[in-house]
Amino acid sequence: MTEPSDTDAPMRYDSTKGLALWGVAEETAAAQVVRSRSLFRYYGPDLRHECDRFEGELATRHPGTSATVVTSGTAALACAMVAAGLPDGAEVIVPAVTFVGCANAVLWARGVPVFADIDDTMGLDADAVDAAVTDRTAAIMVVHLNNAAADIEPLRALAERRGLALFEDAAQAAGIEYGGRPVGTFGDAAILSFQLEKNVSCGEGGALLTRHADWHDRATRYQDQGGQFTTGRGEVRGDAAEPFAGVNLRMSEVHAAIGRVQLARLDQVLDALRAAAAAVRERLADLPIDWRRLPDADGAAGDLTLFLPGRLEARNAIAELRRSGIPARAMYGGQAVYANPAIRAGRTAWGTTFSPGARCRSSERLLGRSVTVDLGPAMSEADVEAVADGIRRVVTSSPPAG
Ligand SMILES: *Cc1c(COP(=O)(O)O)cnc(C)c1O
Repeated sequence: MTEPSDTDAPMRYDSTKGLALWGVAEETAAAQVVRSRSLFRYYGPDLRHECDRFEGELATRHPGTSATVVTSGTAALACAMVAAGLPDGAEVIVPAVTFVGCANAVLWARGVPVFADIDDTMGLDADAVDAAVTDRTAAIMVVHLNNAAADIEPLRALAERRGLALFEDAAQAAGIEYGGRPVGTFGDAAILSFQLEKNVSCGEGGALLTRHADWHDRATRYQDQGGQFTTGRGEVRGDAAEPFAGVNLRMSEVHAAIGRVQLARLDQVLDALRAAAAAVRERLADLPIDWRRLPDADGAAGDLTLFLPGRLEARNAIAELRRSGIPARAMYGGQAVYANPAIRAGRTAWGTTFSPGARCRSSERLLGRSVTVDLGPAMSEADVEAVADGIRRVVTSSPPAG
C-alpha cells in the first residue's frame, strides 16, 4: 500500500501483512500440489481439493456464510454483483475513498458506481449514503479500510430500510471484528482479497462470502463459465438447472494451498498488529492526537491513521516520517477514487459509458489531512518505538486545530 519513490529512504520494517510471516509451510503446501500434478480445482490425477478446503475454512471463520474462491478480490466483487442479480445500469453506492477496483467491478457487472462521502471513520457516512440513493440504486458497497471496520450497523439498517443489497469489501480487513462479529458477516455478500499486501496472501486471489444459498450458487457458476457446459474431454460439468453465460475466474489449487497456510497465520498477524498499534498509542497517550475514529477499536488491528490540521502539514509529516524509514502514506496517495483518469472520464473498455457525478469534497478534505502509518506483524520493539517517536515529532510540530 506504500508508494515507493526514488527519493525514499529504505523502510525500517516490512509493512506487508501475511507476506511478512511467509515461511517454509507456504513452500511445502505449494510443492505438494505441484508434485500431485493436480493444479486444477475440478479434476486431476491426484486432486487434493485445496480450493474446496480453503472455502470451507473461510466459511468457518465467517459464521453463516459460504465461500467461493476466485482469482482476485476484484473478481469476487464482480461475482457478488452477479450473484445479487443486479439489473443493467443499477447504481451501486461506493465510498469516495477506496481502491479503484471497487468502481471497476461495478462497471464490469454492468452497474454504475455512485460515490458517497466517508467520515472520520474512513468508512461510508450513512447520511451521505442516504442522500445518494435514487430510484436506480440497488446496493451499497461498504469498504473496511486498513484493518478497521467501517461503521457497518447504521449502514446495514439503512440498506434494510431502503431495500438495498449490502456488500462488504473486507479486502483490507480479513479477521477484523465489529461488535464481536467478523466483518464480512453483516452484508448480503462480502469479499476478501489475497493479493500480496493483504492479511492473507497467496499473491493473487479473492473470495466471495454470502449468507444466501442462491447467491453462492450463482457466483460459483459464474466463475466457472456460468454453469453446465461440455468440457474438452466430452464430459458435462455443472448441473442442468438454468445455466447462464459466465466467465473463468477459477482459483488454482496452488494458490488455495498457500492461502490455507496463510489463513492459519491470520490470528498471529492480527495479534501482532494489534499489539504494535496499542504500544504506539500508549506511548502517545499524552498528546491530543486527532486519530481516525474507530467504531470498534477492540476489533481493529494495526490501524494508525491520524488527521493533521491541513493538507500541507499532512504532506510534510508523511515525507518526514518516510525520511526516517517509517512507512507513512496518505491512503490512495490522498486521492479520491474518482481522481483515477478512467473513472473521471467515465471510460470503460466499451467506450465512455457513465459519469462519475459530483465530487465528494468532505472526503477529499479528510483524505488530504490524513496520515497513515503502516505497521507490520514482525516489527521489533525498536521499530514500535521509532514509530511512536516519529509520530510524536510530526504531531508536535503541527498541533491539531482547536
Ligand atoms: C485489494 C483490494 C481489493 C481487491 O484487490 P485485488 O487486487 O483484485 O485482489 C478490493 N478492494 C480493496 C479496498 C482493496 O484494498
